[in-house]
Amino acid sequence: MSGGAVEVGRFAPSTTGPAHPGTLLAALLCWLDARARGGRVWLRLEDLDPQRCRPEYLAGLREALEWFGLDWDGEERQADHAAGHAAALDALAEAGLLYPCRCSRAELSAQAKRAPDGSARYPGTCRDRPLPAAGDGGWRACSDALRVRLPGGRIELMDEGGADLSASPAGEYGDPVVRRRDGAAAYHLASVVDDQRIGVTRIVRGRDLAPSSAVQRALGELLGYGAPAYRHHLLLLEERGGKLAKFHGAVGFEALRGVYSPPELCGLLAHACGLRPGPDPVQPEDLVAGFDWSALRTRDRLIEWDGGALHLGA
Ligand code: GLU
Repeated sequence: MSGGAVEVGRFAPSTTGPAHPGTLLAALLCWLDARARGGRVWLRLEDLDPQRCRPEYLAGLREALEWFGLDWDGEERQADHAAGHAAALDALAEAGLLYPCRCSRAELSAQAKRAPDGSARYPGTCRDRPLPAAGDGGWRACSDALRVRLPGGRIELMDEGGADLSASPAGEYGDPVVRRRDGAAAYHLASVVDDQRIGVTRIVRGRDLAPSSAVQRALGELLGYGAPAYRHHLLLLEERGGKLAKFHGAVGFEALRGVYSPPELCGLLAHACGLRPGPDPVQPEDLVAGFDWSALRTRDRLIEWDGGALHLGA
């Protein structure tokens, strides 16, 4: 961003479970990125999935982040912004870009082609289906999922850390669902619309979400939004069933709080990601002055919970 304008970041956890060490590390890095450049940072709670999101998780996330020592310049929940999501869908419908899709999850996962992130690539089966007209009983009320016809071009995108995020989303992923069958705005759409409304200039998040960037940029371009900067960071991983998986369910905030003080946990996580040579206790605000992405390790980090403490692996 030029002209000395204030940078705006956001931490956007899904309210689908308790905060765990991976949540807290992602929040810390997002917060440090903004604070170290004198920017603002929002807590933008992603609570749109009616099957997986719960109010108690939302409350728990908020509490955990406050306990950890992070503060926010603004906070919002996606569920409060349905009108903004609907307006974006209207704009896409008016531009003739929406279509209803009846393909079932089973049909989609049965087709062989995979997207680069391992998900099923949408083969465009329903691409030529017309959108029912607006009005009563029209497309807004239709019980099919709605997809957006992405243009065929390539999105050129570099991560600030050097990774090339460029992709041809239409060919590599296929048209994304922008409104789910249950009527909820889908993740990609809600995410770009809400980031735009808040004025987000920097997207800092775990590297598992890096493949989303080109799809989200393609949607942002269709809606006429400018491009934010992207920075994807390491993940905390655990061994599960002989495989490495994102560190998730192993330990939640309540158990962590019973064992660690906030500075102890912050010190451990700052050490885990390479910000500090040792795990001594530290407050998030003490990390602001020296914060430098180039000090951060880029490789994911193994971490294990033995029921009483966290242990860092290689
Ligand atoms: N809600 C997503 C998650 O918790 C993150 C979305 C984002 O940062 O764009 O994984």
